[in-house]
Amino acid sequence: MGLAIRDATLDGATVGLRCEDGMIAALGPDVEPGPDDDVIDGAGLALAPGLVNAHTHAGMTLFRGYADDLPLMEWLEENIWPVEKRMSDDDVYWGTRLACVEMIRSGTTSFWDMYWHAHAAARAVEDAGVRAVTAAPLIDDDDEEKSERACSDAARSLDEIAEHGAERARPGFAPHAPYTVSERSLRWVAETAVERGIPVQIHLSETEGEVEACVAKHGMRPAAWLDHCGMLGPGTILAHGVWLDEAELELIAERGATVATNPVANMKLAVGGVFPYLAARERGVAVGLGTDGPGSNNSLDLLSDAKAFALIQKHVAGDPAAVTAEETFDIAAGRRSELLGGTALAAGAPADFLLVRAGAPELAPGELIPNLVYAASGSIVDTTVVAGRALMRSGVVEGADEVVARARERAQGLGLA
Ligand SMILES: [Zn+2]
Repeated sequence: MGLAIRDATLDGATVGLRCEDGMIAALGPDVEPGPDDDVIDGAGLALAPGLVNAHTHAGMTLFRGYADDLPLMEWLEENIWPVEKRMSDDDVYWGTRLACVEMIRSGTTSFWDMYWHAHAAARAVEDAGVRAVTAAPLIDDDDEEKSERACSDAARSLDEIAEHGAERARPGFAPHAPYTVSERSLRWVAETAVERGIPVQIHLSETEGEVEACVAKHGMRPAAWLDHCGMLGPGTILAHGVWLDEAELELIAERGATVATNPVANMKLAVGGVFPYLAARERGVAVGLGTDGPGSNNSLDLLSDAKAFALIQKHVAGDPAAVTAEETFDIAAGRRSELLGGTALAAGAPADFLLVRAGAPELAPGELIPNLVYAASGSIVDTTVVAGRALMRSGVVEGADEVVARARERAQGLGLA
């Protein structure tokens, strides 16, 4: 028995869709449900691809609303890191489950996660039914002496994630940033990642101060430094990239790494700059869109962030034509980076898709994609399907109330709420 959609709209036509073994088996005007299929009536609903959140720290939902409105380093060093030291597997599990509910509700079907107790996050991802690459941060305080232990912890985390995650929660590496990780660890991650075919996520050039410190210490800018350590490649996601210069963009494009831009978190933490997207596009840099963690956004609604991305890029370019709605949506759907794996709505593709309320006021009149980017938010999503399984139907995610209650308890237990 597979899942089937009847009478949904796609590009102005009425279509049917059938899922089998987690894939879209058939899609088109003549596609009818099979006799044993679980059928969703798509009348009044439009098909859209699932969104890919290219950078987040899902378990940080527990920090939502805690220590808002502070400078980045004060927020991080004085308010976030001390609490994170006390967090348990269960805290991260329920924090990540909460994030998954929110993402399912707002149309994100897959995300790239960097957080502590990554095996607990992987278990949450499996239980929630979404897809993710989960990775434990590697931090050695840029101290070679702490590197050996940090690397063996990271290696152990890979095995733990594989044990808890399996198919939909895949393991990744997450060296935190060039300024918190030593050259020894960066080189170890780069080599091990290639050897084992594991993707890497790292923060890069979120603040101007990081760039200055890197130049002072290593005599080169952060992207060049990462390249020197073997870290720039097609399996690497660089989160932020606010302060990249043209030579760095050239290098990133050449190596095939992906930049995950996080415009809302950047604005909330007032990092003072904007990812130079137009220059990156000109050079062919692969790009994705992330929310960053719910401690610094504070939302996981990627459609809202897609609008913010388009607006800030237009604004800094002084050109409303600089970025289109279609291009913005493609970026949010992970289609501008092979690594992010955004797929087409087509037979043979993974069955990760959405049904949005086509009759809602926000989507009338006009075209679907510009309306999704500029007029709607994640609340427009009615049904979310991942790997052929409906995780939300008619706006209802099963078990969501329990997840919210348990996450509240965990936040209270940590003194956050
Ligand atoms: Zn981040």
